Amino acid sequence: MGLFDYLFDSEYKQRRDLLSLSDTTSVTTSTVDRVSSDLIALRLRVDRAELAAEAMFRLMQEKGMLTAEELRTAIARVDLEDGREDGVMGEDKSADAPKCPSCARPANFRRRTHCVYCGSALKPARSTEPYR
Ligand SMILES: [Zn+2]
Repeated sequence: MGLFDYLFDSEYKQRRDLLSLSDTTSVTTSTVDRVSSDLIALRLRVDRAELAAEAMFRLMQEKGMLTAEELRTAIARVDLEDGREDGVMGEDKSADAPKCPSCARPANFRRRTHCVYCGSALKPARSTEPYR
């Protein structure tokens, strides 16, 4: 508290402080409400996408078009296209990714014993090699 505030501490100043605090609280509350609403909408979209993907997979499986193993392999291939098997399609870092010695496509030496593209055996990763 500065000298001016000490000398002229008054109900007016306290009221001003309370109003300022109230404004800050309402901004914070509206931000939380907006983020919460966005989160609910996003969750609904993810749930719908999950449902559609599950329905498509079951239909293809029932028609003999696809097995669970084929789907897992296809997911791993698409995941590795960006150079990293991390569960998302991210920024393309395939130029820096470790490559399969047989087909030269991105390979995950830490998690896989064989290339998901050509099936060639992959040597175990060295302990100093970064996760890909
Ligand atoms: Zn390969």
